[in-house]
Amino acid sequence: MVLPLRARLPARRADAGDAERPARKESIRVMKGRIAGPEIERLIQLLARLPGLGSRSARKAALALLKRRHELLEPLAAAMQEAARNLVACEVCANLDTVSPCTICSDPRRDRSLIVVVEEIGDLWALERAGVVNGLYHVLGGHLSPLDGIGPDQLNIARLVERAHTSEVREVLLALNATVEGQSTAHYVREQLAGADVKVSGLQHGVPVGGELDYLDEGTLAAAIRARRTL
Ligand code: ZN
Repeated sequence: MVLPLRARLPARRADAGDAERPARKESIRVMKGRIAGPEIERLIQLLARLPGLGSRSARKAALALLKRRHELLEPLAAAMQEAARNLVACEVCANLDTVSPCTICSDPRRDRSLIVVVEEIGDLWALERAGVVNGLYHVLGGHLSPLDGIGPDQLNIARLVERAHTSEVREVLLALNATVEGQSTAHYVREQLAGADVKVSGLQHGVPVGGELDYLDEGTLAAAIRARRTL
């Protein structure tokens, strides 16, 4: 027998009961937060920590990997494992590679009289993409930032001074960001190089004030390197 609506309502409330209600809410919440087993959740969480990937993009990326297990997921896992196993900081320039000295430092076609100093490895990669540097690099590992407790000793400056004193080096090009920190770091490094018999140069044209090398297009980077000035 079908009861009229008004007659059914009180009975339903009594069935659900106050004790059961929190449990139902809980199960809805848990279902919303978890869409997969712990291995996949962990994959998504790790992907979400990559720059440029929020949790939504991380889920998209994870799904793309899962759907292409043989062509993408397994080769990527193997490549990452291999890279993680062999990763090493270059003893000469602090670039990251799987060999030390790195591929760039040990390339015999490179001009060993020029060292291009950058803040981060991303800047080195950007310059390599632009294809304008035929010399070697030196990665400082950041810029001076007294407020964050980053002084000269936290950066790879001493090793640069050491390199600048070797007879084959004739020019040190400070390709640091056009930010206040980048420029004060350039100033400090230039002072440290005063005792070495090298020309110290910096970027002049093309790099906008506040510009970070990694974000510049290749043409702008190339122009900035070609139009360098002596500091
Ligand atoms: Zn190197």
